[in-house]
Amino acid sequence: MDYFPIFLKLQDAPCLVVGGGDVALRKIRLLKAAGARVTVVAPELTAELGEMAQQGALHWEPGYFAPGQVAGMRLVVAATDQRPVNQQVSAAAQAHNIPVNVVDDPELSTYITPAIIDRSPLVIAVSSGGAVPVLARLVRARLESIIPAGFGLLAAFSARFRDKVKARFGDVEARRAFWESVLEGPLAEAVMNGREEAACLEMEKRLASRTDTPSGAVYLVGAGPGNPDLLTFRALRLMQQADVVLHDNLVASELLELVRRDAERIYVGKARANHSLPQEDINLLMVRLASEGKRVLRLKGGDPFTFGRGGEEIETLAEHGIPFEVVPGITSANGAASYAGIPLTHRDHAQSVTFVTGHKKDGSINLDWPALTRPDQTVVVYMGLTMAAELCAAFIQHGKPADTPVAVIEWATTARQRTLTGTLSSLPALISSYGVASPALIIVGSVVTLADKLAWYRRVENAPATMPDSQQT
Ligand code: SAH
Repeated sequence: MDYFPIFLKLQDAPCLVVGGGDVALRKIRLLKAAGARVTVVAPELTAELGEMAQQGALHWEPGYFAPGQVAGMRLVVAATDQRPVNQQVSAAAQAHNIPVNVVDDPELSTYITPAIIDRSPLVIAVSSGGAVPVLARLVRARLESIIPAGFGLLAAFSARFRDKVKARFGDVEARRAFWESVLEGPLAEAVMNGREEAACLEMEKRLASRTDTPSGAVYLVGAGPGNPDLLTFRALRLMQQADVVLHDNLVASELLELVRRDAERIYVGKARANHSLPQEDINLLMVRLASEGKRVLRLKGGDPFTFGRGGEEIETLAEHGIPFEVVPGITSANGAASYAGIPLTHRDHAQSVTFVTGHKKDGSINLDWPALTRPDQTVVVYMGLTMAAELCAAFIQHGKPADTPVAVIEWATTARQRTLTGTLSSLPALISSYGVASPALIIVGSVVTLADKLAWYRRVENAPATMPDSQQT
């Protein structure tokens, strides 16, 4: 370790910055964020710094640096573009044993500033020892993306309970286990979801009980259309905390890989012919698992509230008083549209878009045809594959031109994606001759013609020449 990391208390501490440009400004902002009293030495200031000086946010000493100015300072920063001046500042500070940083010059510095992830009171500092600052910034960007914005709230909340937890758990190991279960469980989620009062009550309850059993919760998580890149940070975080995961067949196996290794996996899918678990049983299973104190992950393809029965599942939870949260996912219509290069709305083609399902319990298609066949709109059909012929016929019968462009997108967003385009009249033949299988979406409307130009993600398979009135992108 070339540098020893510490966190310095700078509230009201006098700090000197030499230089009045943009580099100085960035350092001054950081020092101010930590509560320092900043003095700036520079013959001139940028407009912004000048304003800060006028408002009393910093003290400006106009003119050139004189070594005596470092006296009494807690920290010194040299941010001029003149190396001799920076050298002078560095020497003066070192003569007084004051830590000094010369921006971008580790040789002249006795300390370096890290890249910072600020979730105060939680602060993370990353350093490459001055060797490759860009690398430290890359690490910082990664950390930013995996540390939820709510962690600051969580840190502040935890600090409030520090002494109580210490008093309750004398044993260090027990205390650590307690904190782990709090910080990785429903209680922490409640804090980050802005339900601090409920979290306080639960915390008090757990501290008061003799046998500490964490309460369970259900996370209803949308996993997106299949490509793991399209998960949300929140989904990923909850996937990595789960004790048990309930999943169905739409979720690609790569996604299940991302669930915590030790989590128990329960398949509750509904392959069309074999209904493995009735919806009612899934709902009750979640209630039972959460009542046992488990963190239950209900992983859904796409978005849980879009043709996902998410509503029914959490209704049962709510009735049983089980805490739950819902994480939206990219619904397959949005995923397919983007990955096929088919904008769902477009000023030249469609002013509205409607998502419908082509699947009915009793096998009939009962849709609002007069509305769906109006011009200037896009219709996306979920679960429409088996009824495609009936759907296309109904569109035409209710007045949609038979040559209306149509696309079917299979395994959208995944490496297996196929996009086939045709018209209302050719689609059924297209589906059968290409052997299109579930999962697939049908998009109806003239926006489909844009795919030719806008498709950027596709696996090209050559369409046989015997397929008139259709093309493959
Ligand atoms: N809640 C899901 C939809 C579940 S219904 C969502 O928001 O996407 C299941 C239907 O979604 C499938 O029949 C298919 O029409 C569509 N679907 C889901 N994933 C898909 C994918 N990767 N490619 C194409 N269609 C998909």
